[in-house]
Amino acid sequence: MCAFDLAGRPVSWTRHGVIHRRGLDGTVLELVRKPGREAWEQGVRRLTPEELAACLGHVRSFLKEGWRLLGKPEPLRRAVELDPNQDAARFRSIWSPVMILPPDQYRSLVLQLTEGCSYNLCSFCTFYKKRPYRVLSQEEFTRHVEEALAFMGAGLAWRRGVFLADANAASLPDSHLLAALSWLHRRLEAPRPTDSFFQPEHLAGFSSFLDTFSTLRRSLQCWRELAERGLNSLHLGIETGSDRVLRVLRKPGSAAQAEELVGLLKAAGIRVGVIVMTGVGGPSLAEEHVEKTADLLNRLPLDAGDRISLSEFEPDPGSPYVLEEMAELLDRRACREQSRALRSRLRFPAHPQGPVVSHYDVRQFVY
Ligand code: SF4
Repeated sequence: MCAFDLAGRPVSWTRHGVIHRRGLDGTVLELVRKPGREAWEQGVRRLTPEELAACLGHVRSFLKEGWRLLGKPEPLRRAVELDPNQDAARFRSIWSPVMILPPDQYRSLVLQLTEGCSYNLCSFCTFYKKRPYRVLSQEEFTRHVEEALAFMGAGLAWRRGVFLADANAASLPDSHLLAALSWLHRRLEAPRPTDSFFQPEHLAGFSSFLDTFSTLRRSLQCWRELAERGLNSLHLGIETGSDRVLRVLRKPGSAAQAEELVGLLKAAGIRVGVIVMTGVGGPSLAEEHVEKTADLLNRLPLDAGDRISLSEFEPDPGSPYVLEEMAELLDRRACREQSRALRSRLRFPAHPQGPVVSHYDVRQFVY
């Protein structure tokens, strides 16, 4: 079975019972369910260039054979004529690598208002270590948006909402962010003849990551103005409710600041996605991490439109967290136990009355 978007790009396929998921940049992940120590576990592997070429070859011959047998139907023509390698190269000429998205934003149209992370010093995170932080000028952003819309073409029909990347786009200075959102809102609200592939409502609603420490001076009034310009959800990597664990992660801020920020965002009518990591801080801080994180989450005014994502810590061997042995590493099983313990302490009503609480496997991300 193969799935293509309406521009003819292969998106996913199953071969010999193994699911493959392809990103616009040409990356293909292989997802295998295998029995683990306690239950089924999801194995994730990135295909090598050789495997990728072979795999795409199979997909294309399957596609061409199916197209011929079906009498060469027009809707499949784009998929048959598309060169996936050239298409991926074109994507990479318009976007810098899209490193990660929140779990409910995988279908967004990603637009890069900034590149990299304005902080970039967390001990566990290597996403942007080799990429200097940069804010795109309005002229560059305009060009990026037009090229992105043209690239997506008919594939835009599948997209929902816009995600402003990279790491902390929502922490840009107030005037810059307000101007960028106003322009984008106007641009997408009034489609041009060349925009035949999307309805304005498909791309309504802007979302972004936000750290918990760089917008402390932004007023409720400003958050409301941003919401009026379409900013309708923000995703906060809170990671932990323990300030001691936060120090191990070298992430500025505190649980109290995170709580205050979430309160402001909710008062402004902005939906909130909270991301916490289980397994950080090692065994010595495990109990404190679970207890204080559950306490913090339970204090947040989250409701049915919000989300709590529990991400099991995936230590990067090249990160300061590992290289400087900042804490003993916990295995996946211990991370999962922490996730269970955290869930069991949450006091929210079950969704749809309360927020969605979900597992967030960052290894499965591909854009
Ligand atoms: S975790 Fe977020 S704030 Fe920290 S370095 Fe990574 S992208 Fe930047």
